Amino acid sequence: MSPTERARLTIDLDALAHNRAAIAAATPGAEVAAVVKADGYGLGAGPVARRLHAEGTRSFFVARIEEGESLRGELGDRDAAIYVLDGLPARPAQRLVDARLTPVIATAAQAEAARGLGRPVALQVDTGMNRQGLTLGEARAVADGLEVGLIMSHLGSATDPAEARNREQLARFREVRGLFPNARASLAASAGAFLGPDYRCDMIRAGIGLFGGGPEERPDRRLRAVATLTAPIVDIRLLSAGDRLGYGSSFTAPGSMRVAVVAAGYADGVIRAAMGDGYAWAAGAPRRLLAVNMDILVIELAEGGAVGDVVELLGPHALLDDLARAAGTVAHEVLVRLSSRAARVYLGA
Ligand SMILES: *Cc1c(COP(=O)(O)O)cnc(C)c1O
Repeated sequence: MSPTERARLTIDLDALAHNRAAIAAATPGAEVAAVVKADGYGLGAGPVARRLHAEGTRSFFVARIEEGESLRGELGDRDAAIYVLDGLPARPAQRLVDARLTPVIATAAQAEAARGLGRPVALQVDTGMNRQGLTLGEARAVADGLEVGLIMSHLGSATDPAEARNREQLARFREVRGLFPNARASLAASAGAFLGPDYRCDMIRAGIGLFGGGPEERPDRRLRAVATLTAPIVDIRLLSAGDRLGYGSSFTAPGSMRVAVVAAGYADGVIRAAMGDGYAWAAGAPRRLLAVNMDILVIELAEGGAVGDVVELLGPHALLDDLARAAGTVAHEVLVRLSSRAARVYLGA
């Protein structure tokens, strides 16, 4: 394949800035922190964090201590708090200190270890997600003697505003806040940011919303696509009724049809499970994904389009949340699976 016959991943940092502003507009009075774990949801923690810092972001969250160390390097001497969701490793707390990272304490044992750290920590309390965090009782037990700068909890059903679980978690979080009157408080991630003023507290921990994923796992007009994956059409073929396409019998043409072969596949991050229900955008319309192989995919292309034309596999027309739904997953996973094979271009860096 020539260099042009290659998938290209464009990361639009102006769209990222737009999404940050949209989340801030929905949450007046709260700080919008940025969650840039897993290399900035696969889009590059360095460029993403530097642009967000230029937009005013001063708090970042990562999952692993290594991610925190690397982000500290990327941000240089810029003023920023970096929280590590993994909490406190059993021993080398020194690494946290050296990179000026703030552990998010998630167990009673970590809280015990944090006493010797000599600096404020964040404390995660479980309010009903049953995944991570101290119980209310454990939080009460450590409240004295631990310097807590931020208390946080995570919502399990924020993508569904009608879920009673949201209000139950909010009620428990209010009890936690009562235990730590001097700490700042954060309950909402991206979806929670749109649940209304009760959920705002002092800080939003925005991840997927910054990258264009809708709060209800549906496309949301307030947010713009940050990642755009494109690839060229390399062939156009005509199928007849009964022709089987590609491997096995995943697709059989019901009648004569025109299809386009595109130079991208799951090795570039197009999720294979999206074939059948997912679509790409080509010649001005959504076109069904008929087959997704490692390097090649095939779309239905009733009319229009020619070899060399660029097809959008993800972006402002082939919407992230639609692709995630078609593949039976969440927008987060679609983004972190975008691979390094696609040539990367940053806009607005
Ligand atoms: C990943 C994560 C977030 C960000 O969630 P989004 O849905 O991507 O906004 C916030 N808080 C915690 C604890 C997380 O693990």
